[in-house]
Amino acid sequence: MDLRTVVRAIPDYPHPGIMFRDITTLLGDAAAFRQAVEELAAPYLGAGVDKVAGIEARGFILGGAVAHQLSAGFVPLRKKGKLPFHTHAADYELEYGRDEIEMHLDAVQPGERVLLIDDLIATGGTARAAVRLLQYFGRAEIIGAAFVIDLPDLGGSALLREDGVAVHTLIGFEGA
Ligand code: AMP
Repeated sequence: MDLRTVVRAIPDYPHPGIMFRDITTLLGDAAAFRQAVEELAAPYLGAGVDKVAGIEARGFILGGAVAHQLSAGFVPLRKKGKLPFHTHAADYELEYGRDEIEMHLDAVQPGERVLLIDDLIATGGTARAAVRLLQYFGRAEIIGAAFVIDLPDLGGSALLREDGVAVHTLIGFEGA
């Protein structure tokens, strides 16, 4: 199936000029959800992934399923103030202002092989902060970053590749 057909586009959400790519329609379609999880995991079968790190919140749904598929552990990367134990944080730029994501300081061990998962990469700010957290604080080996959707015109996947991260995406949409 062409996964593009099961992603709903919502114009001007959450701000005028943004075309929101809603994956709840994909998640609610059993065949599409299975296909997306299998295609996200496929390059990493047998690659010795220790942990999948998922970015809150849609990265939890996909990342949890991919971790199961790869028989890997799962690490939640959460918005500021949500994790109960000691954390490391990395900040990143938003359209207006900055935000932070956090990881438990014992979530990954030095040298562990980690796959990063989120639903979509746009400017790459969120994913690059996640990579910084995992590499700098966790001293993890990032073996790749996988997303269902790439918005290539926003340049995030290119920046992540420039950072030396192998990026895998399933579908792309033009524009912002
Ligand atoms: P960015 O940091 O700009 O790469 O944005 C990526 C994060 O914001 C991901 O967690 C996405 O779920 C969300 N996001 C950004 N732009 C969109 C969009 N057009 N539609 C849906 N989600 C988006």
